[in-house]
This record gives sequence, structure tokens and C-alpha cells, in this order.
Amino acid sequence: MAVGSAEARARLALLAEELKRGRIVEARLVEPGYHVHGLCDRETDAIIIDPAPATVSTLLHELLHRRFPRWGERRVAQEERRLMRYLSDDEIRWWYGQYLRRRKRQRRPVAVRHSEE
Ligand SMILES: [Zn+2]
Repeated sequence: MAVGSAEARARLALLAEELKRGRIVEARLVEPGYHVHGLCDRETDAIIIDPAPATVSTLLHELLHRRFPRWGERRVAQEERRLMRYLSDDEIRWWYGQYLRRRKRQRRPVAVRHSEE
């Protein structure tokens, strides 16, 4: 087991207690020029999560792998970051909407082979 894992376990137990307090909100987060994934609103004590940027970033990454099968991991990751910087907030919403429309949910877990990530 990794060094420091006892501390990590203790910290995660603390965060699990914090999670039980609730006040977790899913909402669109808007900040011009940035794609914000989440924030802790200290005034309302709420945690706000926007699932769109992380999902779109992952979606673009995997689309790049499929469309350009000869590209290596580093090139795909660089292009993913470049495209995320280029996308406006409205475009992120469009891609996220497309993802929600087109995704198929599967209960059966998928075993990942390292070269497929
Ligand atoms: Zn990859």
C-alpha cells in the first residue's frame, strides 16, 4: 500500500462526513474565459458542481482517439487541452447536450486495457 495511505484514508473519512451534510448542487457555472468544474460557495455553504466541462473534455479526448487512431496519448491529450481552451461556454453546452442525447447507459462494467484510455 502507498506511503501516506493511512492519512489519505483518514482525510477521505472526514470528507465522507462532510458529504453527509448535503448542500451539493448541480448547476451551470459561468465565468468568461474559463471552464469551471466546481466551486464552494462560502455564503450559502453549498458546493456547486458543473459536470459539463469535465465530461466534454473526456468526450473530445476519446473522439480524438477514435478519429485519429495513429495519434499517441500525448498528442491526443495536447489537442484535447487546446480544443477545450478554444471552446466557448455555449459550445461546451452544445457538446454536453449532444453527449446527453447520444449516450447509451450500460450497467455492465467495462474492463479497461491500458492502451485504450
Ligand atoms: Zn487517451
